[in-house]
Amino acid sequence: MKKPDEISFCVQCGTPVRQEEKFGKIRPVCPSCGWVYFSDPKVAVAVVILEDDRVLLVRRVNPPHKGEWTLPAGFMDSGESIPEAAQRECREETGLEIKITELLDVFSGREHEHGSDILLIYRGEITGGVLKSGDDADQAEFFSMNSLPPLAFAATRITLQNIIKENR
Ligand SMILES: [Zn+2]
Repeated sequence: MKKPDEISFCVQCGTPVRQEEKFGKIRPVCPSCGWVYFSDPKVAVAVVILEDDRVLLVRRVNPPHKGEWTLPAGFMDSGESIPEAAQRECREETGLEIKITELLDVFSGREHEHGSDILLIYRGEITGGVLKSGDDADQAEFFSMNSLPPLAFAATRITLQNIIKENR
């Protein structure tokens, strides 16, 4: 199976690319026009929404960790601001409108093959909408911090543990 960053053809001239060492790393290179493919880091944003001592989580419909729970989150589109990306992901996965209020944490490094290189965790507050799961989540629910469901990612677990520890 192809990795998301793998490409087969030059985007400039359509020639099949070759894997060659360029700028210290093996990269797809076009033997015809010399175009080099640089994969950009992927940026994702996740939102912690608390109501009293309960946190909003969504259940994943996609692997990895299908059926486990995580924070509303997703990749940023190029050209999108952080608030726009956070608001869009919350709307798609939970039906809720939010504003982001505070940067809680930043994680770097891919946790899995299809994950982000940079993950920004924000605190959000609900400003409208009706709770309803959608997109790549089949359930969206508030959980007491004392009885969390199986969590999908280390970044989710660490974020929630820090919130419990700091009681914020
Ligand atoms: Zn080319």
